[in-house]
Amino acid sequence: PEVISRQPTINIGLIGHVAHGKTTVVRAISGIQTTRFKCELERNITVKLGYANAKIYKCEDESCPWPLCYKSYGSAKEDNPPCDVPGFKNCKMKLLRHISFVDCPGHEILMTRMLSGATIMDGAFLLIAANESCPQPQTLEHLSAVDILKLQNLIILQNKVDTIQQDQARNQYKAIREFLKGTVAEGAPVVPISAQLNYNIDAVCEYIARIPIPKRDFVSPPRMVVIRSFDVNKPGCGIDDMKGGVVGGSIIKGVLKVNQMVELRPGILDKTADGKTICRPIYSRIVSLFAEQNKLQFAVPGGLIGVGTSMDPSLSRSDMLVGQVLGDVGTLPEVYIELKIRKIKLLRRLVGVEEKESEKHVANLVKGEVLMLNILSMATGAQVIKVRNNSAKLQLTAPVCTGIGEKVVLSRRVGGHWRLIGWGEIED
Ligand code: GDP
Ligand code: MG
Repeated sequence: PEVISRQPTINIGLIGHVAHGKTTVVRAISGIQTTRFKCELERNITVKLGYANAKIYKCEDESCPWPLCYKSYGSAKEDNPPCDVPGFKNCKMKLLRHISFVDCPGHEILMTRMLSGATIMDGAFLLIAANESCPQPQTLEHLSAVDILKLQNLIILQNKVDTIQQDQARNQYKAIREFLKGTVAEGAPVVPISAQLNYNIDAVCEYIARIPIPKRDFVSPPRMVVIRSFDVNKPGCGIDDMKGGVVGGSIIKGVLKVNQMVELRPGILDKTADGKTICRPIYSRIVSLFAEQNKLQFAVPGGLIGVGTSMDPSLSRSDMLVGQVLGDVGTLPEVYIELKIRKIKLLRRLVGVEEKESEKHVANLVKGEVLMLNILSMATGAQVIKVRNNSAKLQLTAPVCTGIGEKVVLSRRVGGHWRLIGWGEIED
C-alpha cells in the first residue's frame, strides 16, 4: 500500500487514430505534456512512447457529489490532499491509484511502436474523436492489435464532444457500440469527454479507479521490459560528472533493488571473425531507481520506472536498448536469432487500410518473404525460412531474448507500410 505513494502500479495505454486527443487527455489527467521533444512538437505526433504518471483520488466524505468527488493530480502530490469541491474543503481525499500512461503514436507508420508499448499495458484508453466518422483507419488497427493481445480493461473515450451537438454525440455513441461488437472492448464503457476543456475527466478518473490491479509476482527473479533508453549526459560533460546509462520500462515480475547487479539481454551485438552474429549480455549495477521525480529504493511490477545503471552511457543512447530484457544475472531466458513459431493465426483481411477491397486479402506466409515481428517490446525484421500448416521457421534480423509460449505479432509490408497480419507463439 505505501508503495503506490511513490511508484505507479499500473500502466494505461493510449491508443487511437492520430490527432484524436491521446496526448491531450494524458495532459488533462496528469498535468504533463508527454510530447517533450522539439521535433515531435513540430510534427505534432508523439514519436516515442511518452512517460507521464498520475494519481487518482476520491473524497473520503461519502456525501461529496459524484463525479466531482474524483480527482487526479501529478505523481508528486501527497497521499491525502484536501478536497477542493465547494462545501467539502475540510475533507481529505484518499489515494486510489497511481498510474503510468504509455502514450503511443497514432501515425500508422509507427504501428510497431504501439505494439511495443502494448505488451506492458494493464488497460488502455481508446480515443475516438467525436467530430469524425467512426472508425478511422488506426482506430480499427489499434483495436485489432489489442484484441490480438487480449488486453483487458479498455475504456473508450469519445473525445472532442465540445465540437458537436448532443444528438450527434448520441448517434456516434451508437456507431461506436456497433463497432465494438465482437471485440475485447464489446462491454467497455464509452465516456464522452472534452480533453481540451476538461469535461468529464472526473468520470474517467472513476473508471481508472475501477481497473483492478493485476495479481503481481513479487517473489520470482525480477524481469523488466525495456521500452526507452537514454544517455542523460550533456555534451561536453566531464568524466567525473558522467552518469551511467539509463533504461526505462516496466517490471513484469519480481522486485529490483538499488545496488544490485543486473544483466541485460540480448546485450551488445557483435560479429565473430568468420562473420557470425553473437550477443554479449551487458552486466551492470543499479545505481538509482525512479518513478518520474520520485526516487525509489526498490521497484515493483507495474508502472513505468527509470533505472540508472553503471553501464557505459553510449550503450543506452537514443533508445538503443529498446526491446531488451533486464533481470538478475543468470536468470534471463534464451536469446534467439532463429525462431520457430506455432499456432499462427492470420487475419482474414487487412484492417485499417484505405485500399481497395481486392487488396485487403491476407495471403498465407511465403518462404523467403520478410515480416516484422513484435515480441514483448522488441520489434525486429524476420525472413521466413520454412512454412508448414500453422508453423514457421524465421531468421531474425536482430536477436530477441524471449521464452517458449511468448506471443509473436506479425506484420507484413503492404503499400509501403507495415500492416498487422496475424500472430503466433514461440515454439521450442
Ligand atoms: P494525438 O495525436 O491523439 O495525441 O492528439 P493530440 O492530443 O495531439 O490532439 C490533436 C489535436 O486535437 C490538438 O490540436 C488538440 O488541441 C485537439 N484536441 C484534443 N482534445 C480536444 C477536445 O476535447 N476538443 C477539441 N476541440 N480539440 C481537442
Ligand atoms: Mg499524441
